Amino acid sequence: MGFKEEIKRRRTFGIVSHPDAGKTTLTEKLLLFGGAIHTAGAVKSNKIKKSATSDFMEIERQRGISVATSVMGFEYQGYKVNILDTPGHQDFQEDTFRTLTAVDSVIIVIDAAKGVEPQTEKLMNVCRMRKTPVIVFINKMDRPTKDSFDLLDEIEEQLKIKVRPLSWPINDGPDFKGVYNIFDKNLKLFDPSITEIEEGINFEDLNSPELENYIGNDADVLREELELVEGVYPEFDAKEYLAGDLAPVFFGSALYNFGVHELLDTFVRIAPHPRPKDAEERDVEPSEEKFTGFVFKIHANIDPNHRSRIAFVKICSGTFQRNTNYKHMRLGKNFKFSSPTAFMASKKEIIEEAYPGDIVGIPDTGNFIIGDTLTEGEDLHFKGIPSFSPEIFRYIENADPMKSKQLNKGVDQLMDEGVAQLFTSELNGRKIIGTVGALQFEVIEYRLEHEYNAKCRWENLSMYKACWIESDDKEKLADFKKRKHNKMAKDKHGRDVFMADSPFILDMAQRDFPELSFHFKSEF
Ligand code: GDP
Repeated sequence: MGFKEEIKRRRTFGIVSHPDAGKTTLTEKLLLFGGAIHTAGAVKSNKIKKSATSDFMEIERQRGISVATSVMGFEYQGYKVNILDTPGHQDFQEDTFRTLTAVDSVIIVIDAAKGVEPQTEKLMNVCRMRKTPVIVFINKMDRPTKDSFDLLDEIEEQLKIKVRPLSWPINDGPDFKGVYNIFDKNLKLFDPSITEIEEGINFEDLNSPELENYIGNDADVLREELELVEGVYPEFDAKEYLAGDLAPVFFGSALYNFGVHELLDTFVRIAPHPRPKDAEERDVEPSEEKFTGFVFKIHANIDPNHRSRIAFVKICSGTFQRNTNYKHMRLGKNFKFSSPTAFMASKKEIIEEAYPGDIVGIPDTGNFIIGDTLTEGEDLHFKGIPSFSPEIFRYIENADPMKSKQLNKGVDQLMDEGVAQLFTSELNGRKIIGTVGALQFEVIEYRLEHEYNAKCRWENLSMYKACWIESDDKEKLADFKKRKHNKMAKDKHGRDVFMADSPFILDMAQRDFPELSFHFKSEF
């Protein structure tokens, strides 16, 4: 197969949802279809329950052993499908946002009884920002649900995207009869006792009285509703979907493996192959001959006996090859990778080459940080992996004076992995850790102890937000820094950060210093 064909057949995507909507269940069913797993229950839920840390650590430990769960690749009908796993817990949304920089499209799972939930909205905002094409799967139709039209309206309003149903449910809850696949004109009947793959019944003419034989009185309702659907929603336009302006919608029940096959079949046909990626210097086309890629995730091995990490590289262009010299842009050095791994059928194996859209895992001993670019020599820096301005802050103190070296090293590496952000106060030189979720502090403490043999202590710091500041007006900038001296800090790269105590103070600062830009993302 030629290079261009390899690109065209790749589908790299992420599944996102508000916790509990059914992301794990759907992922598992897709993997079953792809032959990547053979039994239900094989996919570990990455969900963190109430008792937070221990749970998280347990999950991380399991994943450390089988990193494969981060990327799941399989072959399906001639397509190479790569599913990137995203954490469900909201304290780890930054990790999810970063993973979304490496996907070419997204499937959003919505609970049919709950509709759009807060995290669905946040995740959609990220997709909209990047114009990522989105398919919506409305899940749990086997349970009592909201009205289908209301759900669609809710999605349009709250997720701010046009929708187009490509399948339509027949009733819901205990009366759920199945879905009519609008895209393929095919009726599929629901039977909760069957969870195998089943072909639907073809129904060219919905007006045929035969429909009654299958779904009884619901036939009339289905005809009416479909008429309404066709009247309200314009024809499905693949271009609009690919531009990120329109979300095709499917209904089903992941638990009963119902509607999932349709979803996958349509997905591989309409979802985009790898798309161009923007670097600071220029846009990079996947079909370019020379290899480029970037690190979007670093996974530490929690097992203290095997301290290496894995850097996940998304291939943006060209063919990645084992044992070939590539330039690490940030370090300005060449590296060769002798054991890059890929994740096929939930097995991790060493690969010789990989194509745009693929993810390779590179064992790393500390050379990579999130956002690093690799090329064949060209100066390129891929964009789009920002750090968000953290909202929870604590001073970090060394609790074991004999282990300060270990502590510093641990903190450094954890920051490189993107677990949290480190700031140094201009006032007293103390180190401040900023995060978007409270759970990260526990994770940091636990990992410092178990992986670096270091102990830390936290001291609360009540602060509203940290934001990056800059200005062309050097005098004003200096003036601001002088006046706010005790609230200024430097980030890891030495950039100026203003730590605002409250929304009011931030507001005042912005008003008093219009010459300054206040940034809430590290990338500006
Ligand atoms: P996640 O947090 O989004 O990954 O959600 P899970 O896949 O873990 O599902 C959350 C709960 O909903 C689990 O108990 C699932 O068994 C259940 N669930 C998922 N899909 C369905 C469905 O289609 N119907 C029903 N009745 N339950 C479902």
